[in-house]
Amino acid sequence: MPLGDLGVISLAYGVNHYEVDKPYDRLLGVFSREKADFRTLGEFAGRELYEAAYWVDRFSNPYLYTWSILGERADLSLLAPEERRVLEKLVVDFGVNRHPFEGRPWHNHYTALYLIGDPGISCILTITIQTAYALYKYAEGELRDYYKGLAGIEKPPLWGATWFTEVQGGSDLGANTTTAKLVNGKYELYGYKYFASGAGIADIALATARLPGSRPGAKGLSLFAVPRVNSRGELNYHVRRLKWKSGTVPVPTGEVEFTGAEAYLLGEPDKGIYYTLEDLMVSRLANSIGALGIARKAYIEAYGYSSIRRAFGKRLVEHPLALRDLVDMEAEIEAMTALTLYTISLFDSAWGSRPPYDAKYHYARLMTHIVKNMTAETSARITQTAMELLGGIGFLHEFAVERWHREALITPIWEGTSNIQALDMLEAMYKKRAHEELVKSTEEIASASPEPALAEKALQRIRDEINRAASNPGQAEYFAKDILRGIGAASAVILLLEGARHTGDESFVTAAKYYYETRLEGKHARPLERREALELASLRGALDEIDWEAKAREALHLTR
Ligand SMILES: Cc1cc2nc3c(=O)[nH]c(=O)nc-3n(C[C@H](O)[C@H](O)[C@H](O)COP(=O)(O)OP(=O)(O)OC[C@H]3O[C@@H](n4cnc5c(N)ncnc54)[C@H](O)[C@@H]3O)c2cc1C
Repeated sequence: MPLGDLGVISLAYGVNHYEVDKPYDRLLGVFSREKADFRTLGEFAGRELYEAAYWVDRFSNPYLYTWSILGERADLSLLAPEERRVLEKLVVDFGVNRHPFEGRPWHNHYTALYLIGDPGISCILTITIQTAYALYKYAEGELRDYYKGLAGIEKPPLWGATWFTEVQGGSDLGANTTTAKLVNGKYELYGYKYFASGAGIADIALATARLPGSRPGAKGLSLFAVPRVNSRGELNYHVRRLKWKSGTVPVPTGEVEFTGAEAYLLGEPDKGIYYTLEDLMVSRLANSIGALGIARKAYIEAYGYSSIRRAFGKRLVEHPLALRDLVDMEAEIEAMTALTLYTISLFDSAWGSRPPYDAKYHYARLMTHIVKNMTAETSARITQTAMELLGGIGFLHEFAVERWHREALITPIWEGTSNIQALDMLEAMYKKRAHEELVKSTEEIASASPEPALAEKALQRIRDEINRAASNPGQAEYFAKDILRGIGAASAVILLLEGARHTGDESFVTAAKYYYETRLEGKHARPLERREALELASLRGALDEIDWEAKAREALHLTR
């Protein structure tokens, strides 16, 4: 009998997460400038990675090792050996963090995060690529070269971190009180960071701090690179403790204290908040695609289970209302996938821009706020419906879906909450006029749509929401999330139709119509023909090629 097999707790375990995901593969082909082959990573994500992350979540929290064998402070977070191996494999063998620095599309990096779909593991990769990004763009000389280790281009790979939040506020970064001073030509940091993911594993972290005489608020922040070990070979700061969290267990999140930590200023001292917000775009897109990755994992579980579970003499998938749940989930995943992959393509062509930035960059930022907000809600909603479709066992800690729901719940909170995304979207409209580029671009895409009437209705909704924001700025803040959802959902409809135009896949039209009716018109959804519904829900037949019954029994080692 094989030793252990997570098939007993999960139907998605052992499924190649890329091969079954026909909609993702097709939309990637539409929105990425070059398409790579992710099948090996899809296999790894569905098996080895799945197994390691599951085990860490249940039984193997990172452990803060505070004192060394010599009685000195060590402040190391020890990770489970299997987790370390998985992370190194992702960075070194799969090279998931290298792509943008070697001229390849950001879609390659983000597709890896989608397949990983596990926020604890993805967080470690994201804070590392964010650190690489900041050094690559804003550091000079030898310091800049560290981006190569962080991107996994040079061995050994290095790990990064991004520490901005302080105890008095995460949303309000302007309230940061950590200070920096120049002593004998070197910067020293004083203060403490209250939420610090990567604490105890990061070789280099980014941290916000204020220089003497800086302006109050966010514009007075500078951005620094802080190594774990200083130039005298000593520990550069202390990790006070690790937090005990509901999810994201693989990433150690702690509190970090600077008492004269050696630091290196990045770029210009009064542009720290711009570099920070730029770096947050990298992680907000990671959060968006990762949130969809979680939703997809839960969806595969729900579909597999609906194919084998019988109620009232029929399989769940044969009950119209259960199939409707699957269609509802799938239309939303596809709409958000189109929106996210499109937004990544905007970032892919804008990330070279520097403060004060060009119009393309502001448009990419506008759309990033929208997808960060919407995909997080999608993830929470879909994992919840998946849980329901599994009935009582969906709620059990021992099966997989409960974890996906727990993991989904971080996505609306970190990297800027849903409210903050909505407020920042308004800022990008009022101060940067980013909506002008939105209207221009969506009009252009819609003009070639295979469903012109639907595309025009969606376009009109975008214009209406923009007018709503413009006509009453005093009230816009109150309605910010409604405006955001209106623009995001209408854009997603236009982009799904663009997907249909490029690929000839009619299910994208079905998804666009369904999503438009239910999310934008608030109507009862038009009942789909069973064939149409199944084509959409089964990921164009790919999930029906799996013999779920055999798979479930095989996992019990009864049928080998
Ligand atoms: C697991 C985990 C890991 C993390 N890792 C890191 C990390 O590595 N680095 C880092 O810097 N941070 C990290 N964070 C912090 C995270 O980014 C913050 O928790 C988040 O940005 C929210 O900040 P806050 O907790 O201070 O909440 P607050 O800012 O106090 O917000 C509380 C509530 O008020 C709302 N709110 C705030 N302002 C407004 C407003 N103007 N209008 C309407 N509503 C408003 C928010 O939306 C939220 O709902 C992590 C958090 C968690 C949970």
